[in-house]
Amino acid sequence: MNYIPPALQLGAADTWQRLLQVAMEHRASDIHLEPHASGLTARVRIDGVLVAATHIGAAPIDAALKDSLRSYIKISASMDIAQQRLPQDGHWLAKLPNNGTQDCRIASMPTAMGEKLVIRLLANNSQCTPLAQLGYNTDQLATLHSSLRAPHGLILMTGPTGCGKTTSIYSALQTLDLAHINVCTIEDPVELLLTQVHQIQVNETAGLSFTAALRAILRQDPDVIVVGEIRDKTSAHMAVQAAQTGHLVISTLHANNAPQAITRLIHMGVAAVDLTSSIQLITAQRLLRELCPMCKEPTALTPLQAQVWHHNGLAVPEFVYQPPHKPTECLACINGYMGRFGIYQMLAMTTTLGQACLHHGDEQSLQTAATQSGTHTLAHNALQRISQGSTSWQEALRHVTLEVAQ
Ligand SMILES: [Zn+2]
Repeated sequence: MNYIPPALQLGAADTWQRLLQVAMEHRASDIHLEPHASGLTARVRIDGVLVAATHIGAAPIDAALKDSLRSYIKISASMDIAQQRLPQDGHWLAKLPNNGTQDCRIASMPTAMGEKLVIRLLANNSQCTPLAQLGYNTDQLATLHSSLRAPHGLILMTGPTGCGKTTSIYSALQTLDLAHINVCTIEDPVELLLTQVHQIQVNETAGLSFTAALRAILRQDPDVIVVGEIRDKTSAHMAVQAAQTGHLVISTLHANNAPQAITRLIHMGVAAVDLTSSIQLITAQRLLRELCPMCKEPTALTPLQAQVWHHNGLAVPEFVYQPPHKPTECLACINGYMGRFGIYQMLAMTTTLGQACLHHGDEQSLQTAATQSGTHTLAHNALQRISQGSTSWQEALRHVTLEVAQ
């Protein structure tokens, strides 16, 4: 449909405004508008989990508005409303009642039930969380700060998609003396606009690939270079080379844990000797939901769970916490959780680790060398946070393996 009658247009704008407001109040990262036989349902992603928008107080979407609501959003995002059979992307600076704006990235997808829209609510500059509030413990924070002060070298952040790597990088950049250095980033996509940082959006169709952008940046007299992601042999080689020629390079890589990042880079064809001379720090991270302090319930550990604490060299807590057993009327949280924090593994390059790189390079010997250098696993960090009452055993299990034999 190309034409929206004024009454429906008003209804659609009003529905969108209410939905956006409820989503923002609950710190949602995405709004999903999902078609079904009798209309359109909204779900929102909060702390990494999708919940029905009605669950957080949004009114159900009037079935009569399903087409006009989608059209309203697509028009606002400069998308083609006549095209409903192919996926489209759009961008919209949505107005808020308080005269502010919310940056939205829209993606449409044709499904058997009709067109589905996903609206990513992008954070803005002022929402860049300070590094100290991301869940790093004191030692981890000190290690990270010391690596960020290095004049050159490679800092790698690893973990699955959506584990907060980009947030960690953005927050890390905020700790640098930005007024006196040249910081350039290559990203796909740029997720947050930063001041005093030159952010370059990869544009493959226009010929601006990661590697083309990196080549151009190297001629821009950079001090710190952020390479959004090391994806292949070429970007791996270029990132390592840049780190060896006087630049601090920060990048991300898909790996389950920090030692595995080294194995992956070696498999990509990077020489072990180049890794030992360039790597400053490798981190692995996961985002865990934080238990709601208002309604969390104490629970005893099973003997098997207690063994996992023993195995990791940690004191077994008398009790731990879990979300309320029965659904409660808690107004503060959703299903017993509110907010998220990171757990981390920090692997700095040491002589022991360097030797393991040069001699074996397989994950097991690197893991052993990492342990000998005092690096704890993600599981170790997760158990500490359970002991502290920050999160539950069930939540930690969604992200890390908690077994006696690891
Ligand atoms: Zn609660």
